[in-house]
Amino acid sequence: NAVDYDKVDESTKFLFFPIATIGCGKTTTALTLTNLFPNSWGHVQNDDITGKDKKMLMKKSLELLAKDGMKAVIVDRNNHQFRERRQLFEWFEELKEDYLPYDCNVKIIALSFFPYEEISSVYELAVKRVLERGDNHQSIKASAKGEKKVLGIMRGFVDRYQPVVQEKSPDNQFDLVIQLNVREKDSSLSNAENILRELHRHYPILIPQLPTHATIREALHKSLQYRPSVTKI
Ligand code: GDP
Ligand code: MG
Repeated sequence: NAVDYDKVDESTKFLFFPIATIGCGKTTTALTLTNLFPNSWGHVQNDDITGKDKKMLMKKSLELLAKDGMKAVIVDRNNHQFRERRQLFEWFEELKEDYLPYDCNVKIIALSFFPYEEISSVYELAVKRVLERGDNHQSIKASAKGEKKVLGIMRGFVDRYQPVVQEKSPDNQFDLVIQLNVREKDSSLSNAENILRELHRHYPILIPQLPTHATIREALHKSLQYRPSVTKI
């Protein structure tokens, strides 16, 4: 009675792992998508997790995904290195049966925010955004921490960035890699739109009908109002 994990049907669920650095719009894009589908899409931010248990990010994501009617959960963390991606896949394998029925089919999709060749222009835009975001973040408080320190943290992520290599472990475990970009001011609008278009093409069961551009833009504008509820020092 082998479970056919390639099969996609009404009971299939989806997890999204971003691959990005700070300020690429991970949270804004995730909020845009959950604003569009508040009952069937969820979002767990690593930045909201305060305890010592590192696996809590996956535990909370699976707990949310297990809910009735929940179809897709975005696991919001940078995952900019192979090590972090491998860790998410390992935690998923280790924990999935604690939360989901044994035969629940889960597709895991990469949201690759930018190609390596564009890293310097992405960095420039991300720095501008993070300085403008100011203290409106759980831990990277631009004014409290000071600009120099924030730039140091951001630079560290960019220097360590390991883009997706689809033919190699751990990235060969993704069922689908969606290529995004961080080029223009409203990149989270085009990124949300691209994600939906790719899902509609590959998994029409999840996105049977594309929302209109105006609806997605409205969802983005709502997500730009977001203020975090957690403070981490
Ligand atoms: P993260 O660090 O990858 O989660 O990045 P955020 O989603 O927090 O985005 C960083 C800052 O840029 C936030 O203040 C966002 O409001 C802003 N931002 C992100 N995407 C967009 C966008 O498409 N348009 C505009 N105007 N601002 C954006
Ligand atoms: Mg974020």
